[in-house]
Amino acid sequence: MKLYTKCSTCMTDISLWTWYSDRIDFKKSNKDFINLTCKKCKQTDRYNIDNVKAKESNTAQIIALSIFLIGTPVLLIFLWDYIFKINNIYAILILILPLIVPSLIYSIIIKNDRQRVRLFNVS
Ligand SMILES: [Zn+2]
Repeated sequence: MKLYTKCSTCMTDISLWTWYSDRIDFKKSNKDFINLTCKKCKQTDRYNIDNVKAKESNTAQIIALSIFLIGTPVLLIFLWDYIFKINNIYAILILILPLIVPSLIYSIIIKNDRQRVRLFNVS
């Protein structure tokens, strides 16, 4: 998970990466304080883990959006011929159902990411 805090010197965001999904575990591994170096002003300082916040991951959003934007048209192209060959409305509905999958994956990824961020920030 990507975490952020403000540099004590220049107030720029300092980002760090951790596998811990909540603050309590993260604290256990770091003893409340963490040494971070600002990329902008190169100052190293000790930061309280209580002031570190999680943000929603851009990578998760990009992956989710790609699955949605690529998956939906690909499925539509794949199913297009079948949809017009079938005269049964129910069969058409069944064929259209897979088109929901990319948007379902999209919303699951976004939802999971938001939950992780919330879990970290409230713990
Ligand atoms: Zn700085």
